[in-house]
Amino acid sequence: MAQTTETALDVVVVGAGFGGIYALYRLRQIGLKVRVFEAGSGVGGTWYWNRYPGARCDVESMQYSYQFSPELEQEWDWTEKYATQPEILRYANHVVDRFDLRRDIQFDTRVTAAHFDEQSNRWQVRTDKGDQVSAKFCLMATGCLSATNVPNINGLDSFKGSVYHTGQWPHEPVDFTGQRVAIIGTGSSAVQSIPIIAQQAKHLYVYQRTPNYAVPARNAPLAPEVKKAIKADYAGLRKRALEMPAGFAFEFNPNSALEATPEERQREYEKRWTAGGLPFMGSFGDLLFNHEANATAAEFVRGKIHELVHDRAVADRLAPKTILGCKRLCVDSGYYETFNRPNVTLIDISGEPIEAITPAGVKVGGNETVVDALILATGFDAMTGTLLRIDIRGKDGLSLNEKWRAGPRTMLGLMTAGFPNLFTITGPGSPSVLAMMILAVEQHVNWVADCVAYMRKRGLARIEPTLDAEDKWVSHVNEVAAPNLRSTCSSWYVGANVPGKPCVFMPYIGGFPLYVRKCDEVVAKGYEGFSVA
Ligand code: NAP
Repeated sequence: MAQTTETALDVVVVGAGFGGIYALYRLRQIGLKVRVFEAGSGVGGTWYWNRYPGARCDVESMQYSYQFSPELEQEWDWTEKYATQPEILRYANHVVDRFDLRRDIQFDTRVTAAHFDEQSNRWQVRTDKGDQVSAKFCLMATGCLSATNVPNINGLDSFKGSVYHTGQWPHEPVDFTGQRVAIIGTGSSAVQSIPIIAQQAKHLYVYQRTPNYAVPARNAPLAPEVKKAIKADYAGLRKRALEMPAGFAFEFNPNSALEATPEERQREYEKRWTAGGLPFMGSFGDLLFNHEANATAAEFVRGKIHELVHDRAVADRLAPKTILGCKRLCVDSGYYETFNRPNVTLIDISGEPIEAITPAGVKVGGNETVVDALILATGFDAMTGTLLRIDIRGKDGLSLNEKWRAGPRTMLGLMTAGFPNLFTITGPGSPSVLAMMILAVEQHVNWVADCVAYMRKRGLARIEPTLDAEDKWVSHVNEVAAPNLRSTCSSWYVGANVPGKPCVFMPYIGGFPLYVRKCDEVVAKGYEGFSVA
């Protein structure tokens, strides 16, 4: 067991995903001594853990990348429109080696506790490997979708076959050839993996509690001339992306779906469906604000599902009746078509939940389906799960779990009152999962680095938001969420997927440009809303 007691650290960073990697680079650049603790054996965060078949990003690869280094932008060569998990992981490793970051990352080490010591104004951090370190600042780059959600189903532990969670997939490829496989869940992870597992398995049983909308990815190799054109003006692309609510550039039509004629709507939806990907949501400006407008797009996608799936009853069960894009829209490659295969069975558990997992399979309504392998594509305790699994204590021994009992409260998603010098990267109350994540982490880390530099220059010991500023931010987060249809569904955005979790719309949905403006204003006004001493 490692047993380190180190007092000379300036910053402890928790997590070596895209946030932690950039934090190490940037904070080292301003002369700080930084140590990163990472639970995995390698870097990459979400892309390290989510190795399930078909895992792929749904933001275009030329945009889903760092922008802090123009040289890196020029030298890295993405191969496909949407990068696969292995390619993104190679990129993360390339960045770490290119900027000599690996030597300050301690792998296979999970941070278990972080306590603030008010006398020294330092964070005391402990790990499961016995490390005890102290640092002036603690930066949680723990990711939004990193604590897996394992459903509490009777008998799960009794299953005799292999059990996998998509978010903790083995490093060696899993071959389902000849096996009977059950998959629970039909979110983005399932939608990506089902078409591939179905090609291998003897039979695949898909347990669907809620159908999800998926639009085709239309993935393809990236043509050299497309890459060349983007690289010739990468800065221009980044600038356009920064002006978009989600922080990535795509064609957005601000007009109302309701003011368009049925023919115009059909044309627009058809165009987007053919082009593929998340830009489908940009068909009209009011899709996420007006039920009636949303219904026109939802009806279009339901029509497509019926065209793609031959069996009418199966198509009916696959076609959601809910608001399109309210839960995160899935981007697929052959998902609906997979249900035409004779070796795939859709089992609708919307009316009757899984009764039990037995040693041999899955039991619903008294009927047992015997399988060799079980896949849990059941998602994550999102946004707050990983943070709250660490024993974090601020002033007066206040625990973060206690403070966030009724839901997370932050200032800008970056800090929370009572926890001085503790920063959260893409924390609740920041755009996080509603923005291009790499852009979001770069913006956060830059804000934190500037803040730390400001404090060092003035010899300041601690910073934390005032309760008043935090309350105002939380109100603003709720205010911008209210008119948006996304805040109305039982999704992981509101914590509804985890039993007992407080239902609060967690990400900031006011758009990335407004968020950046708010962060910059706070700084321009000498850290307005923060108490600095
Ligand atoms: P998810 O969207 O939360 O989906 C979990 C699925 O499991 C849902 O269908 C859910 O049903 C079901 N489920 C959970 N507990 C269950 C239970 N006890 N019984 C039956 N069904 C149960 O999780 P995910 O698919 O891992 O995706 C999470 C997020 O990760 C995505 O929304 C996306 O932001 C990100 N992601 C992105 C990509 C990409 O870039 N392409 C790929 C994968 C994931 P209910 O809907 O009824 O709760």
